[in-house]
Amino acid sequence: MRRKIKYIILHCTDSLWGEVDEVRHWHKQRGFDDIGYHYLICNRYPYYWNLKENKPDPLFDGVVQKGRSEDIPGAHTKGKNSLSIGVALVGTTKFTASQFESLKFLLKSLMEKYNLSVANIRGHYEFNPNKTCPNIVMNTFRAELREYLTKRKIKDKKERYVRKA
Ligand SMILES: [Zn+2]
Repeated sequence: MRRKIKYIILHCTDSLWGEVDEVRHWHKQRGFDDIGYHYLICNRYPYYWNLKENKPDPLFDGVVQKGRSEDIPGAHTKGKNSLSIGVALVGTTKFTASQFESLKFLLKSLMEKYNLSVANIRGHYEFNPNKTCPNIVMNTFRAELREYLTKRKIKDKKERYVRKA
């Protein structure tokens, strides 16, 4: 059954590398049943060896991986898990352009699905002042997201028009 979703909460993994099975393993070690997030957005370092050997894998850059089912509350933001979806970017303080592109695209579809506005997109630190996660200035990000959504709307409208013609 679909949950009532009020927020999409952004996180970072606070690691330089990672992919869904790796992060699931870390979270299980911390006692969770499964990965705490619903979506993970990879950078160029899916595995530790990519980082250690300095062999980034561009095929992973910006790839969205599914974590926990959206129908099940995550384990990512104390007190807010039951009414939110958790999305994490792999990284500490720097993220790639592809990660941001994928994030905005994912948010667009989740916002449509759950009927949310940009104000419902929050960063972990906005619910917990002891955190800096996701290490993104959320007001700046929300402004960028608004701009992205406006541009997409114009583009979608044009495409509809072209298809009709
Ligand atoms: Zn977080």
